[in-house]
Amino acid sequence: MTTILSKEADGAAAHVPSADALIVNGVGHSFGDKRVLDNVSITVPRGAFTVLLGLNGAGKSTLFALVTRLYDNVSGEIRILGHDLRRKPTAALQRLGVVFQSRTLDSDLTLEQNLFYHAALHGIRKAEAKTRAVEALTTVGLADRAHEKIRNLSGGQARRVEIARSLLHRPALLLLDEATVGLDIGSRESVLSIVRGLVEREGMGVLWATHLIDEIAPTDRVVVLHKGRILYTGSVPGLLEVSGQPNIREAFRSMTGAKDTAEAA
Ligand code: ADP
Ligand code: MG
Repeated sequence: MTTILSKEADGAAAHVPSADALIVNGVGHSFGDKRVLDNVSITVPRGAFTVLLGLNGAGKSTLFALVTRLYDNVSGEIRILGHDLRRKPTAALQRLGVVFQSRTLDSDLTLEQNLFYHAALHGIRKAEAKTRAVEALTTVGLADRAHEKIRNLSGGQARRVEIARSLLHRPALLLLDEATVGLDIGSRESVLSIVRGLVEREGMGVLWATHLIDEIAPTDRVVVLHKGRILYTGSVPGLLEVSGQPNIREAFRSMTGAKDTAEAA
């Protein structure tokens, strides 16, 4: 299990340069009187592929909404590359790239135009944006499609464009929310290997939210989220050890009581 950082005794978090891409410490969230996240603490180190594993309704997307500051975290703290999200939101969010669960590309614009739009939002000048767009589209294997409209792409290719877009402002932390849902096996593998490549080559910290157990590799870090609570954080071998189960599927079942859920699509 990883150690969860505790708050300073006086409640004021000191600014220490952090090797961790993301620290979520004691965060909660409610919709009305429904508690959907309770005392959630997660660390995503740089250069680590961290899987946030949870069934539908576990609270994964709500956590992403807190980290992207769609909702304010009223309890606990969230730090991105050491920057406190509540106190230094601009510095924190500059270092964050996100691929949301729902599609967010304009299908009538070209790949490049979609990327330029995002670059402009981040204050990146046109000439620089052009260079970065080519670079990012090359990373996801779509540089030759730059001038085509999004509507001509397959679902998997559109996902790859969203990944390229999330990289334009050169973040060090990438969040992906159910990035492979609805994709065929080949596209899923391609999306996964692109993201794993970013971790290995560029040392990015990745938080990969999924309910699909077969997306987990033996060397990944795993965070099990169930009904708004963290049940486990650590390595795959550690997960098997604490659960006393032979594989991740059985470990997840025994922890959550889930029956036929969290299966591969
Ligand atoms: P996941 O992404 O893991 O499937 P969510 O974060 O979307 O889970 O949802 C967690 C819980 O919060 C679910 O019970 C869901 O119904 C509830 N929920 C999510 N968004 C809202 C909202 N905007 N208003 C009320 N309840 C919500
Ligand atoms: Mg979700």
